[in-house]
Amino acid sequence: MKKLLPTSTAGSLPKPSWLAEPETLWSPWKLEGAELTLGRQDALRITLKEQEHAGIDIVSDGEQTRQHFVTTFIENLSGVDFENKKTVRIRDRYDASVPGIVGPVSRQKPVFVDDAKFLRAQTNQPIKWALPGPMTMVDTLYDDYYQDRKKLAFEFAKALNQEAKELEAAGVNIIQFDEPAFNVFLDDVNEWGIEALEIAKAGLTCETAVHICYGYGIKANTDWKKTLGEEWLHYEKTFPAIQKSSIDIISLECHNGRIPLEVLSLLKGKKIMVGAIDVATDTIETPEEVAATIREALKYADADKIYPCTNCGMAPLSRDVARGKLHALAAGAEIVRKELSV
Ligand SMILES: [Zn+2]
Repeated sequence: MKKLLPTSTAGSLPKPSWLAEPETLWSPWKLEGAELTLGRQDALRITLKEQEHAGIDIVSDGEQTRQHFVTTFIENLSGVDFENKKTVRIRDRYDASVPGIVGPVSRQKPVFVDDAKFLRAQTNQPIKWALPGPMTMVDTLYDDYYQDRKKLAFEFAKALNQEAKELEAAGVNIIQFDEPAFNVFLDDVNEWGIEALEIAKAGLTCETAVHICYGYGIKANTDWKKTLGEEWLHYEKTFPAIQKSSIDIISLECHNGRIPLEVLSLLKGKKIMVGAIDVATDTIETPEEVAATIREALKYADADKIYPCTNCGMAPLSRDVARGKLHALAAGAEIVRKELSV
């Protein structure tokens, strides 16, 4: 992007209440069949308009067509049993009823490609498309077949790569892999997590991003954060290897956490999506607060590498709050853009 400090969101945005129960993760659809398809497209149109109206530069589908950022992709693969769910512990933090792997995993058909084409047809702005990362996928199900996290991650990565190539062909400019699990299984990140991402992005010519956060603003995550102490140093353990990877952009949580932003200097040469909006509170940041976070990041990274963003997805927030936060993000970035141009 030529424009300095281009803004974007981490991924999900709230869905309209006529489409799915608001402020709820894994919320069931309220429509069916052809009505559901049209309803999701209308929701996508609305979320796009809201981003454009707020002045967001790199737009997304706001994940309006998926029930959940991980499970919707997994649902579309073969080898997965959605009938017999089991309860597993996700990211070592909370229990959820999840599907299982019962046979070889493969992608039988495109998952989001039609949605991406639909979004591309509605806008000329750059599009970012989020896919779940292989490690986070492995962590969101049980595995009775491979019984080997690394092996399963590499199989998921191959399926993601097929999807990513078709998304690129549909006109997506940035493909983002969501890896909140990268802040939990630090040794695995270095041993095979980054390697799995390289498989997922192999052969792509568009830009790629990895989103590494401390999760949605749900209670299990905010409780976990309280146990992490004065300084959160997870990023420090994984950034040296991420810096050496071929991923172009690293999307991080930077606002309201206890993350010393010096850690950004470990990502030299990478573009950084700087989370300047807290998704774990209904309080809407002021543009000046957003600007302060961006200025802090500017101490450790060049201006042309900073992409102001949200800390994480905003699906669990109310639409009013999310809309207010989008406007604050764009206004805060504009304040710093003006400072940089004088
Ligand atoms: Zn996130």
